[in-house]
Amino acid sequence: MSKKEILNNVSIEGNKLICPICTGKQFWTRKTLMNTTGMSFFNLDWANKKATNYICTHCGYVYWFMK
Ligand SMILES: [Zn+2]
Repeated sequence: MSKKEILNNVSIEGNKLICPICTGKQFWTRKTLMNTTGMSFFNLDWANKKATNYICTHCGYVYWFMK
């Protein structure tokens, strides 16, 4: 369902992604479908958007980006 890989230098909008907790620069990344059970029945499109997670490999802090 979701794939996961390690990235060493992540840039978002030209800025390096740095963990605010441990200042780590290595992240897992995975794509998540924001699919909440039952939500599509009510036609709430935002509930089915794709999100990208960047998860700090050191402390586990999770960034969420939705585009
Ligand atoms: Zn961290």
